[in-house]
Amino acid sequence: MLWVYIGVSVLVIFLIWVMVKKNSVKEVGGANNVIELNKKLNKKQKTAKGQVCSFCRNKTDRLAFYSDEQGKVLGLCNSCKLLAENRGLLRL
Ligand SMILES: [Zn+2]
Repeated sequence: MLWVYIGVSVLVIFLIWVMVKKNSVKEVGGANNVIELNKKLNKKQKTAKGQVCSFCRNKTDRLAFYSDEQGKVLGLCNSCKLLAENRGLLRL
């Protein structure tokens, strides 16, 4: 039962984190369109060469690679790295 509990907690934390992230993007977007557009363009250029995280689909400069229960390779950003470690995934 302990593993089920840990799994559920990780999932809940992840969902809260995704929701908080979505909300903050929306709020900033409505605040000032011109500045926000510039920020977005800069962000796109900066992360153009970045890789996409397997969990949250965000682009990041550095990915940590893990192998999941099915042996699939996951490239994870800093935030999702912690989730992978909590799930006990193997670092490659
Ligand atoms: Zn991620």
